[in-house]
Amino acid sequence: MIAGEIARIFPACKVDIRSFPKHNEIERARISDIKQPFEKQPRHVDDSMMPLYDGFVLQRLFANSIPNDERHYNHLHLVFTSLLACTFSEDDWRYHGRTVICGTPSIISTTGIVEAPAKPREFYLEQYGGFADIGSLKKKFAGRFIDYGDSRITAAAASYALQAMFFFLTDGEPFCENKDCRLFNAHWQEDLIHTLEKHEFCDRHQDMANKFNKKLGRH
Ligand SMILES: [Zn+2]
Repeated sequence: MIAGEIARIFPACKVDIRSFPKHNEIERARISDIKQPFEKQPRHVDDSMMPLYDGFVLQRLFANSIPNDERHYNHLHLVFTSLLACTFSEDDWRYHGRTVICGTPSIISTTGIVEAPAKPREFYLEQYGGFADIGSLKKKFAGRFIDYGDSRITAAAASYALQAMFFFLTDGEPFCENKDCRLFNAHWQEDLIHTLEKHEFCDRHQDMANKFNKKLGRH
């Protein structure tokens, strides 16, 4: 479905789907203290928490698997993974879960789609207020956020794949200010769901895609 979506938007691109070789070194990217940068991570890993990974370390590990003849500007690699990729922010000195990390390769995290954009504010108020257990909260707010097993994860992954492609089309500025555009950088689940329902680009980004297609079509 994601490949079909990419082919629909960028018909001149050839999409090749392959399974990624299992990386023995992935555990090296693991983090266990979200309040310390990667160099200062404790060596022991607390197995009781959800495994978190440093997104840039993951990116370097995945990059090793890109064949030499594809290390070229006219190839673009997207890795879809359930690993929760996080990046450390020096603004608040902690790691944050991410939906997409653009680069070579770009990483799209399906777990990040569930965990990174915030659920409705009232959800957390009720959760931290201790008014209800997580199961009944999820029921109460159903539809207003994407949960594990939700079919919208695939649609969201397609949007993030497009963001990763626009990262290269726009020289590193793929995000849009327009809340209706698929390239909107949603910090809230409800905003993400809104862009999935709209399922369109703003005029500026549609125009950019058209120009790119025209250019490729000529070659
Ligand atoms: Zn836009």
